[in-house]
Amino acid sequence: MQQAPPLTGATRVFGIIGCPVRHSLSPLMQNAAFQAAGIDAVYVPFPVDPEQLAQAVGGLRTLRVAGFNVTIPHKSAIMPFLDRLDHSAVAAGAVNVVMNHDGILTGYNTDGDGLILSLQRDLGCDPAGCRVVLVGAGGAARGALAALCRAGVAAVSVLNRTASAAEEMLATVTAGYPQVACTVLESGRSDQTFWQQQQLVINATSLGMKDEEIPGLELACLPGDAKVYDMVYAPPETRLLRAAKAMGLATANGLGMLVAQGELAFELWHGSASPAGVMAKALHRYLDSP
Ligand code: NAP
Repeated sequence: MQQAPPLTGATRVFGIIGCPVRHSLSPLMQNAAFQAAGIDAVYVPFPVDPEQLAQAVGGLRTLRVAGFNVTIPHKSAIMPFLDRLDHSAVAAGAVNVVMNHDGILTGYNTDGDGLILSLQRDLGCDPAGCRVVLVGAGGAARGALAALCRAGVAAVSVLNRTASAAEEMLATVTAGYPQVACTVLESGRSDQTFWQQQQLVINATSLGMKDEEIPGLELACLPGDAKVYDMVYAPPETRLLRAAKAMGLATANGLGMLVAQGELAFELWHGSASPAGVMAKALHRYLDSP
């Protein structure tokens, strides 16, 4: 294995803030890519309690941390503490990447575009013109919805435990896309014809991490060429993916999205593409090790 270059006074610092942040796989992916690209930088985890977010952001600015990722629970809460927001962050109502340019902090969202890239790479699915069922109305769902609209989907039906959250998300995120047909699905209220017309189902909730079922999905009624994507990647095969696979449908978990959002963050920070396949390889080497 290639040896990591020595840290010097010129080494730039990147990182991730979250609470908790111990579980994050981003340090693994980003440090592998920095090293492969020969970039003199290091990427570290920063645990930040919600009540200390403002001080933490000020500290990162003061210490000239060059850029950082933002994860649960800070993705929306950080927005008022940044100087600028890219349109990707405004559309999603959430930030997962921050760039520090001479003390000016700009927030971006690469989760949504990461999902689109993963749909293309891992499912061979171009969402343009697709009829999509999106499960969830939290931060990840918002980013996904904004990116799906940008990618030109025909229709999005949102299934969420709290219907009012789904209504609010559709009203705010899809406002600029009158051509996208949007509905809130009530669990158990949609008929067989509806499900026969859907081409893509995306889970953007945490359901599945503990082998939970997603109520209200009628997988058996989907057409044979429908595709099912689960943003959850631990475990690698959720109950949803198992059921979809058993019905012969194409499936993918959220590992590809994790990699793609990281590659897009790298590109924002360094102005060039991350070395091809390096982040995915680092991740798989780690996850596949006993
Ligand atoms: P979030 O903002 O907390 O939203 C959680 C969503 O899950 C809400 O829609 C919530 O519904 C729903 N939910 C939670 N517990 C539920 C339950 N017991 N029954 C039914 N619905 C439930 O979280 P998030 O940031 O959107 O993240 C959602 C998932 O996506 C997480 O598993 C996260 O790890 C994953 N994710 C993956 C990637 C990736 O790169 N693969 C990137 C981002 C996120 P209510 O509105 O009813 O509360």
